[in-house]
Amino acid sequence: MDNAGPPGIVRAMDHDALIAGGGLNGTALALALASGGLRVGLVDPLAASVRSGAGFDGRSYALSLGSVNLLRALGIWFELEGDAQPILAIRVSDGHAGQGASPLALAFDHAEIEEGPMGHMVEDRHLRPALLRAVERAGIALYDRRAAVAHAADPTGIRATLDDGTEVRARLLVGCDGKRSPTAVRAGIGRMTWGYGQTGMVAAISHGRPHEGTAHQFFMPEGPLAILPLTGNRSSIVWTERADRAEAVAALDDAAYLETLRPRFGDFLGDIALAGSRFSYPLGLSLAHRMAGDRVALVGDAAHAVHPIAGQGLNAGLKDVGALAEVLVEARRRGEDIGRADVLERYQRWRRWDVATLALATDGFNRLFSNDNPFLRLARDAGLAMINAWPEARRGFIREAAGLTGDRPRLLAGRPL
Ligand SMILES: Cc1cc2nc3c(=O)[nH]c(=O)nc-3n(C[C@H](O)[C@H](O)[C@H](O)COP(=O)(O)OP(=O)(O)OC[C@H]3O[C@@H](n4cnc5c(N)ncnc54)[C@H](O)[C@@H]3O)c2cc1C
Repeated sequence: MDNAGPPGIVRAMDHDALIAGGGLNGTALALALASGGLRVGLVDPLAASVRSGAGFDGRSYALSLGSVNLLRALGIWFELEGDAQPILAIRVSDGHAGQGASPLALAFDHAEIEEGPMGHMVEDRHLRPALLRAVERAGIALYDRRAAVAHAADPTGIRATLDDGTEVRARLLVGCDGKRSPTAVRAGIGRMTWGYGQTGMVAAISHGRPHEGTAHQFFMPEGPLAILPLTGNRSSIVWTERADRAEAVAALDDAAYLETLRPRFGDFLGDIALAGSRFSYPLGLSLAHRMAGDRVALVGDAAHAVHPIAGQGLNAGLKDVGALAEVLVEARRRGEDIGRADVLERYQRWRRWDVATLALATDGFNRLFSNDNPFLRLARDAGLAMINAWPEARRGFIREAAGLTGDRPRLLAGRPL
């Protein structure tokens, strides 16, 4: 798997772009850049075999149509399609444990847009290995089991140092290294961060009745509960609770855990059982002040990690991937140095507003819905009912969630670079 050669000094200008971080965004970016003819290196402290191993990450992703288009253009959707569940409808309601959902609900149906399902649910255990297999097939140089620990920019490129002493030269370093991005820290890019004091508990649940492709979002005072359809009679739940309460729930055995979940879940899907391991993710907001620095660009959670309330974090990261790949490949075709400040500024201008808006919107929704203030409850129920009665607003929401709005990168519109 590791085809970057033994540790030591690597020859000058090894790659056009060196990517720090081989998570979902880092691997997708590596594939996108390679498909545009750029030479790419990919660094990650964890071995690819560990990252693609069973039980590495329990999340499932609500991938927008735009993200699905990108995966199709990168040649991996055909491997995922069979295990992906189309999202045919979304139902949003206020709720209380034990009382079920409020009757004033907001409902979206895929038939309201022409493009088909708003998106697909894809499990991490399928997506991550498919991306890593494609990276291997593409012959991308992997620096596995090594972390990028230092870098220095000069007028022609950057020199990155890995923790085993290997030095790698490239025109550009891309930080796809998560919400604490060491690349951003080294590049002097600050960030705005706060914790929500909430934890997202994730698990796959099997149930007696079919979900009909409907995704549910129940807004409970402690935090939202999302029930997202997977293939078969299974759903992925993202159960958000205050951190102290989540810790207590995580400590329960499976039977007690299900007893606690049942009143929140309700019985509309019949009897429920666990269909896999339980995972917990602390939730917070992390927004980098800039998405570009001196021969450095940031992508995915390294630039913006948001509350999962709208299931848009990875979708936003894949938009970064599409935008950066398009900017860099076009720059290369024009004979420009892809690490130059004005090239990176094009990427930053393209993505910055969208990303800041997403961070603000997810933060605002979480504050508005994760509480039990009776006036806010009344106002938001009325708001949901109003939008529900307004077809144009509903269509707008669906198109936004499906990733069909704004200045879309070519890959997200299903076109090659
Ligand atoms: C509960 C939950 C549910 C979610 N559901 C959805 C959803 O439905 N839809 C959606 O679109 N998004 C969703 N998201 C968001 C999504 O999971 C993230 O946005 C996405 O996984 C981020 O991927 P990434 O590759 O940017 O970062 P990460 O997954 O954090 O990857 C970072 C990588 O960098 C590596 N690294 C770290 N340090 C170094 C270093 N020094 N050098 C090199 N490499 C390094 C790490 O090993 C890691 O592999 C959800 C998030 C949560 C918490």
